[in-house]
Amino acid sequence: MGPENSNKANNYPRPTAPFVPPQTNSPFTSSRPVIGSQPSPFTPTSAPTPPTTSPSYPPGPVSGSSGPAFRPVQTGRPTPPYGPPTSGPFQRFPTQPFPLSSQPPPPHTSPVVQPISSPITRPPPSQFPPMSNFQNRQPPIPTMPVNGVPSSINGPPMQQPPPSIGSTHPAVRPAQTSTWPGYPGVQTSSAAPVSNQGGYVAPPPTSSVPFSSHQVGYGPTPPVASPLGMYGGPTPPTGGMAGLVEDFSSLSIGSMPGSYDAGLDTKVLPRPLEGDVEPTSFAQMYPMNCNSRYLRLTTSAIPNSQSLVSRWHLPLGAVVCPLAESPEGEEVPVINFATTGIVRCRRCRTYVNPYVTFTDGGRKWRCNICALLNDVQNDYFASLDSNGRRVDLDQHPELTKGCVEFVAPAEYMVRPPMPPLYFFLIDVSIYSVKSGMLEVIAETIKSCLDKLPGSTRTQIGFITFDSTIHFYNMKSSLTQPQMMVVSDLDDIFIPLPDDLLVNLSESRTVVDAFLDSLPSMFQDNLNVESAFGPALKAAFMVMSQLGGKLLIFQSTLPSLGVGRLRLRGDDIRAYGTDKENALRIPEDPFYKQMAADFTKFQVAVNVYAFSDKYTDIASLGTLAKYTGGQVYYYPSFQAAIHKDKLRHELARDLTRETAWEAVMRIRCGKGVRFTSYHGNFMLRSTDLLALPAVDCDKAYAMQFALEETLLTTQIVYFQVALLHTSSSGERRIRVHTAAASVVADLGEMYRQADTGAIVSLLGRLAIEKSLSYKLEEARNAIQLRIVKALKEYRNLYAVQHRVGTRMIYPESLKYLPLYGLALTKSTALRGGYADSQLDERCAAGFTMMALPVKKMLKLLYPSLLRVDGYLLESSMKADVFEKVCKRLPLAAESLDSRGIYIYDDGFRLVVWFGQMLSPDVFRNLVGEDLATDFSRVSLVRDNEMSRKLMDILKKLRGADASYYPLCHLVRQGEQPREGYLLLSNLVEDQVGGMNSYVDWILQIHRQVQQ
Ligand SMILES: [Zn+2]
Repeated sequence: MGPENSNKANNYPRPTAPFVPPQTNSPFTSSRPVIGSQPSPFTPTSAPTPPTTSPSYPPGPVSGSSGPAFRPVQTGRPTPPYGPPTSGPFQRFPTQPFPLSSQPPPPHTSPVVQPISSPITRPPPSQFPPMSNFQNRQPPIPTMPVNGVPSSINGPPMQQPPPSIGSTHPAVRPAQTSTWPGYPGVQTSSAAPVSNQGGYVAPPPTSSVPFSSHQVGYGPTPPVASPLGMYGGPTPPTGGMAGLVEDFSSLSIGSMPGSYDAGLDTKVLPRPLEGDVEPTSFAQMYPMNCNSRYLRLTTSAIPNSQSLVSRWHLPLGAVVCPLAESPEGEEVPVINFATTGIVRCRRCRTYVNPYVTFTDGGRKWRCNICALLNDVQNDYFASLDSNGRRVDLDQHPELTKGCVEFVAPAEYMVRPPMPPLYFFLIDVSIYSVKSGMLEVIAETIKSCLDKLPGSTRTQIGFITFDSTIHFYNMKSSLTQPQMMVVSDLDDIFIPLPDDLLVNLSESRTVVDAFLDSLPSMFQDNLNVESAFGPALKAAFMVMSQLGGKLLIFQSTLPSLGVGRLRLRGDDIRAYGTDKENALRIPEDPFYKQMAADFTKFQVAVNVYAFSDKYTDIASLGTLAKYTGGQVYYYPSFQAAIHKDKLRHELARDLTRETAWEAVMRIRCGKGVRFTSYHGNFMLRSTDLLALPAVDCDKAYAMQFALEETLLTTQIVYFQVALLHTSSSGERRIRVHTAAASVVADLGEMYRQADTGAIVSLLGRLAIEKSLSYKLEEARNAIQLRIVKALKEYRNLYAVQHRVGTRMIYPESLKYLPLYGLALTKSTALRGGYADSQLDERCAAGFTMMALPVKKMLKLLYPSLLRVDGYLLESSMKADVFEKVCKRLPLAAESLDSRGIYIYDDGFRLVVWFGQMLSPDVFRNLVGEDLATDFSRVSLVRDNEMSRKLMDILKKLRGADASYYPLCHLVRQGEQPREGYLLLSNLVEDQVGGMNSYVDWILQIHRQVQQ
């Protein structure tokens, strides 16, 4: 226990360590895998819900291609490869036969204009009457869309006052009140409703939540029998190869037929030096599809049969980034159907979109997802032209654009839209102070107050903690905040429940005063304890009425009260055993239970961790993972080094546009069904993702399966709908729609594959797998899939085209092996004990689970640029930088000791100085003192060359603002820094016992040929 902080109030008993934690909080009974005992309001109530039947799969062993280096995964599982995550029936539109969705063009008939129906009025969104006013409010239409109200997740809507955690103690009691130095003390005695929450069931995320690795399945069906001729026959590549380019690409492996190990020219290996190149077929074939920044399919050729699916071997799914930032001029159109109400399919609730077809003279429209013929409401009616198109098409973006946002009317809410709400839970123990963290965040939060979304509606509040919990009364009538200390950690209550969370604009002066004095208040704090768990519960109590964003700043391993964590650390003996994965998952169920509760009450949690020691990111990160949040990890934070990074990333977190109290669902056409979801969220029902807060930096992946043996439609449509509250207080629905062709040809599936989406899904699946299995098994699973896919592909063409020993692959997948290798070398998955610190590994896993495709690819295959030529040539201006500095292969071979290189993975920049650089250049860039350790050197700024270098760094950072890459300078030969900053990240090299790119290709090729 740390000494008293002299700045804090006297006379309050400090807890004596060690604490006996209270019996596990009773309200969190863990029993169900998903939130919500009620069918989601998204579900059409008019449609019957047939039980889902498992499609029939031919049983069989995994293909015999597994070499000794890797193992097949979960071969014994009897379920189909993309089995549903839960056993419950899927609540979807019915599967009885529909009319085909491809319809003849509607006949042209004269419009019939009918009277306009009376408008539906919307309630004013800006008021916040007591929750009880809304408790019995029922939406006017039976087919209720989703709503973002916490209580609707589970149990009756909004019938309870704000809950307290634990049914045994009241939410509010007279507090032991301490005064802020110099501020009046307050005795709190107000009573508040006591809510017994013991009745609800807070399901901890168990096996069926997204991270469960058992969803990673491999098709049990072996690939089709391969003709014997494929095994590297004696026929060398012939002149016929040139004509095959359209079919596939190939690598010549082996100078002699049948020999694999010599003659592979590393220069010809495919490398994504242009970055992420998206397949164009998707957009070309269906120009009205939403932009691929929002939705990418792993292949835009949808297999028409189970047998094709089983021969695809790669994940069949999508990666969705519903709020991706759009470039200027491509803003998402906002549509307000004010009087009409949002036009949706009566049966499957699909939103009207460019692929619906109008018929019957414009009086009916056919749903592209379920083919139901819907009536066109009178006030949405327009006549059709001779081509069967509505004459007013150009006035309806929802009928021409794949991405729109609808303003949702009153029936999409059962409480008024919540205000943007930011709550801060700040560790003020000794390390937070000494590292400078406290000062940086106080400063940054203050600097962002004017830019928080929500304008005058925004709410804010703070709790700080060390061995006790400190509340702050921010009431607007005060001139200074009042601090109240609660030291009874076993029995948390909140003093002054009404004034801990305040309207920012009303209490701005008090908030400013608080942030100004926060660092100095604790500057002498020597407390080394952390009552994080109890403080977390306190934050929950304060926030649970409204929801919002909880930002946690954490420096010390939680040591007191509920949720305390032990130094289980990184145990070298666990690696390679069945216990290895246990290190990567939370030990104490408290964190999962809290996460479930936060989600239920629309709270998203972002965790900022700063410790210089083991801090159990595996447990803390769980809070972010299941609440749609994010983990920011700054190991051994020192303000002097990491200040800019923290400042930028916190500012981005606070000021980026955020969608609140959101739920997301992706629909797809008949015969196809989404089966598993991967990312940071919690499932509210089988297919509804609960996302208390979403922003442009978050992506989610999902897999789908065929429900039927054979698809009879020509096109499958996908529609993502994100119902949310905008920061301005409007309920809105962001809708992305896309179409993809159904094919009967495996080659076509491969040709239309999207490596970026595949890698994003493979990565997520592997990270999930690493939570239940050894790292090695997670890596092997990636390799196995790549091998199987390439083997299948080879089977398609090898005999026919006599490709001999050549390695063949579809052009669309040419980078797949390299990205697969990079995945196995990523911080989250690489090596063993010594290759990544456990906390770092877990933090990387949480981060990668949420990354959009482009960001993921950049992290896996970062750019390496040589910049000395550009710096030395004074005539070259900034605009030619991209032309002059091309990306290079990520191998030590690319580094010339006379050069300067920049490595950029989107999270970190490394400037590498070759040893043979001229002393003049060194002097210009880093000053005189060349002998020093480059970790202490910074760039000088007083000459043109150094300014040019700074400009490059600025440009690289500006290319993607989601994270702030710190810049590290390193000199060639400076060990160990050169090793861990750069050399170990050159994914093409053989590092730490892991394959080089060439070896990897040879290994895959051998396995493909087996
Ligand atoms: Zn429909």
